[in-house]
Amino acid sequence: MKSLDIAIAGAGPGGLAAALFLSRAGHRVRLIERFEQPKPLGSGLMLQPTGLAALHALGLYREIAALGAPIDRLVGTDARTGRNVLEVRYQPLGVGQHALGVHRAALFGVLHHAVVAAGLSIRSGYTVTQLQRDHSKSWLLSPQGLEGPFDLVVDALGSQSPLKRYARARSTARPLAYGAIWGTTPWTDDRFDRQALSQRYRGSSVMIGVMPVGRRQPDGPELAAFFWSLKPADHAMLLQRGFAEWRQIVEAHWPATASHLDAIGSFDRMTLARYQHHTLPVPAGDGIAFIGDSAHSTSPQLGQGANMALLDAAALTAAIEAGDSLDDALERYVAMRRWHVRLYQFLSMTLTPFYQSDSRAMPVLRDILVSSFARIPPVPRMLAGMVSGQLLNPLRAIGLKPAPLGEVR
Ligand SMILES: Cc1cc2nc3c(=O)[nH]c(=O)nc-3n(C[C@H](O)[C@H](O)[C@H](O)COP(=O)(O)OP(=O)(O)OC[C@H]3O[C@@H](n4cnc5c(N)ncnc54)[C@H](O)[C@@H]3O)c2cc1C
Repeated sequence: MKSLDIAIAGAGPGGLAAALFLSRAGHRVRLIERFEQPKPLGSGLMLQPTGLAALHALGLYREIAALGAPIDRLVGTDARTGRNVLEVRYQPLGVGQHALGVHRAALFGVLHHAVVAAGLSIRSGYTVTQLQRDHSKSWLLSPQGLEGPFDLVVDALGSQSPLKRYARARSTARPLAYGAIWGTTPWTDDRFDRQALSQRYRGSSVMIGVMPVGRRQPDGPELAAFFWSLKPADHAMLLQRGFAEWRQIVEAHWPATASHLDAIGSFDRMTLARYQHHTLPVPAGDGIAFIGDSAHSTSPQLGQGANMALLDAAALTAAIEAGDSLDDALERYVAMRRWHVRLYQFLSMTLTPFYQSDSRAMPVLRDILVSSFARIPPVPRMLAGMVSGQLLNPLRAIGLKPAPLGEVR
């Protein structure tokens, strides 16, 4: 298709990756972001082989691999018995297969640096509120004025996007009862496995996690993301009862976290994250495509959100390249991502209550199933395929090659 004028609204992982993919495919892109200085929010996340393949296609894999921490397994332990009730390894997928724990600032820095180096146009301090269509062209509206005309708007504004109403079919967002408070702490090898995302549970109402996330910059210290599962409705009460009381509760469940709690020291260093679940049935509309959390958001229990945003960005670019017209390209994009997105949204919605809910039965069932079946072949490989984001082989649909995970660690 001919070269298009494209607005990319939102400079999160999805928007930044889309700007790079689309400009490299010959389109004129303009990134639009509400913050004056585009910046990442939050602590760490896990890049799966899927997201790493998208970064590899952008030539950014080695840079992010040098900053992140390779994660070979996910381990969950029952706080009362000390028994492992979750163990998923990447190894059944092949030698050297792993995920990468990264600080959000590291992922943002690598993508943003590439966007700046490519000289792409960025409009910051602009809060998108509406879309306007006229004679096959689109404009973005905000209290800061009008931006346009564009042939296509890519909505990468995240789960609260005000543009979702322009999708061909709407979705209803469902806030989840549980969220979490997150903080960043120095990494310690003392009683923590540097190649594992470690979690500790009591039933499904208590979940504590420690994940190595590598470094923010090449010369920075090694870091960890620390999280505590919490109902946003209980956040005010937690703050009122104070850090010291909470700290005692956390340490009672997991004494090894003492050094992380020392480093956090106050609730000021922890951010409340609320989760909501929504999936646009058709992530496209008249002159607009939706990628990342604006198209589908969920709890991060399966650690797929940023990876799916990166895949969406690659898929949209491939669809535009293959399409005869913009409408044809958007249809191809929707088809390319449909089943992978639906499957992972379904899995996240189904599995989250086993780890974050008030149910008494679900964690018991979880522990029985995981301890009895999880080690019997082919279940370990199926679980590895699921957490790595590779069920239904989303890379093949988009034409992405795997990142050389075994070579760079
Ligand atoms: C606590 C937590 C842990 C997570 N862990 C993982 C994990 O381990 N692995 C994983 O893959 N995913 C994880 N996720 C999910 C992941 O963070 C999201 O899926 C991902 O950030 C989505 O990227 P995005 O680019 O679509 O949207 P976002 O990252 O939300 O970016 C949206 C951008 O748009 C800008 N914006 C928003 N509204 C406007 C507006 N009106 N006008 C202009 N600009 C606007 C924002 O400032 C932001 O820059 C986690 C999420 C949370 C909350």
